[in-house]
Amino acid sequence: MTAQETMPPFSQLDIAPTAALILGLQLPKIDGRPIDFAVARGCKNVALIIIDSLGYDLLMWLLPTLDNMRDLSIVGQLLRAAAVSNHTTPAIASILSGLLPEHHGIFDKAGAKESRIKSLPEIAAASGQSCAVIMEQNGADVYQGLIEIVHGIPDSIPPQNFDREACRMTCQALLEKPRLLVSYFIGIDKSIHLGNGLEGIREAASLIDRCIGEIVRTANDETFFIICGDHPIHAGPLKRTRGPYYVAMILAKGKAQK
Ligand SMILES: [Zn+2]
Repeated sequence: MTAQETMPPFSQLDIAPTAALILGLQLPKIDGRPIDFAVARGCKNVALIIIDSLGYDLLMWLLPTLDNMRDLSIVGQLLRAAAVSNHTTPAIASILSGLLPEHHGIFDKAGAKESRIKSLPEIAAASGQSCAVIMEQNGADVYQGLIEIVHGIPDSIPPQNFDREACRMTCQALLEKPRLLVSYFIGIDKSIHLGNGLEGIREAASLIDRCIGEIVRTANDETFFIICGDHPIHAGPLKRTRGPYYVAMILAKGKAQK
């Protein structure tokens, strides 16, 4: 597994077109391009898991202790993807639209609510596909009434509780067999902002990794997983202060890890 050593320039912008390719959806003109993986053949559904602050370097450091993400990156691919923003909201909007921040124009939570840009879950739902979004409350509110399953989680609750709740709701949503699922985990980023140090980051990452294991075991075997960070660490002593900025991106077929 030396994908990172012979790396073509992948980007977070490639996530939406890659998911669209698997789901058989046409996207409007966007900035990314689909990554066509043989491993995605036979997959009908997409589970996109966004992990806040999962920079590429950070995942490489954590990976020896993260059994589930490590297994997925071995059966699938672990890529280094160019980050489009150092902030959560515009980065997630780019992940979900395939557009650069200057093209989607979503820079804060209010902008996300007002935007008329169609993101992947809306496009999938408009094509009659069942979708689930499990996200921080403000992000989830954008999808209320537009897609089938929406679960908002307040980010005021302790981060471990947020991530456990995201895991529980994601597994519950997967029982409905959505074509597209988008789920979001917050613990690593919160741990960094709370100044919990390396041990705190490790603990948060371990919890998220256990959640991913549970989610993969719950998803059916036609599910393609895309796990990615929104930006590299953007605060605290581990903050990356100069480019290039990369996030981790794992692409793998579910259940294949067994
Ligand atoms: Zn973030």
